[in-house]
Amino acid sequence: MKKIRTCFGALAVLLMSAAVASAQTKSGVDKLYILNCGEGVAGDISRWSPGINVGQSMDFVDNCYLIHHPQGWLLWDTGITDAIASMPEGQAPADPKATHWRRPKTLVSQLDALGVKPTDINYVAISHSHPDHIGNVGLFPQAMLLVQKAEYEWPSPFGARFKPEHPVTKLEGDHDVFGDGSVTLIATPGHTPGHQSLLVKLPNTGALVLSGDAVHFKSNWDNRGVPSMNTDKEKTLASMQRIADLLAKENAQLWINHDKVQRDSLKMAPSFYD
Ligand SMILES: [Zn+2]
Repeated sequence: MKKIRTCFGALAVLLMSAAVASAQTKSGVDKLYILNCGEGVAGDISRWSPGINVGQSMDFVDNCYLIHHPQGWLLWDTGITDAIASMPEGQAPADPKATHWRRPKTLVSQLDALGVKPTDINYVAISHSHPDHIGNVGLFPQAMLLVQKAEYEWPSPFGARFKPEHPVTKLEGDHDVFGDGSVTLIATPGHTPGHQSLLVKLPNTGALVLSGDAVHFKSNWDNRGVPSMNTDKEKTLASMQRIADLLAKENAQLWINHDKVQRDSLKMAPSFYD
């Protein structure tokens, strides 16, 4: 009898540890979708890497990333405004060296195709407050906005960017969104005063750093180009080094938001990374 009880005891311990293991796997991110949040042509890429490839244009993309965690949905960046989808010629920039954006699909239609309503989004985290990243924040008036305080309070040349009634968490440095290390905002100032990047740890894909605009395309990363429009050159370089150190420490991939060549090698929604 004692032996049987011991057996049951061992079985109970086994079952409990299996339950703990499954609870642990449920605590992390389980899906990451890449959404098309704009396509464009940069007029002169030396704007991003001064002195290099002067006068050359380059195709750009603009991504949004939809992340599912058992605690809810997080949208990383919102792209250019969905209104551009109805402009046949897209939106030409005031400065011809900047980016002429088109929007082949709206953000809302891509969420809809995944069965996700704007009201399902719990968090909208933005890398920074340039128009190609915050164009659709207003579609998620109930979502908690995760933005660096320095960005929120920046008197940007683009004027008012956030509705004062939008719920917001103003961050001062790194932030572990779900409390389990699976999604961490990383302060990477320099492009703008409160720029941030996103470290995501996926169970199968592994660790990723989503750049925001800490870097714009691969050669700009390789040559440590600091765009002429950045608010702080030293901080930009320090943030690039911080990302390089993080990639090494976490054995992470760097996904560069505007890099079309890289994005063309990745799978877009409805496919996803897990
Ligand atoms: Zn951008």
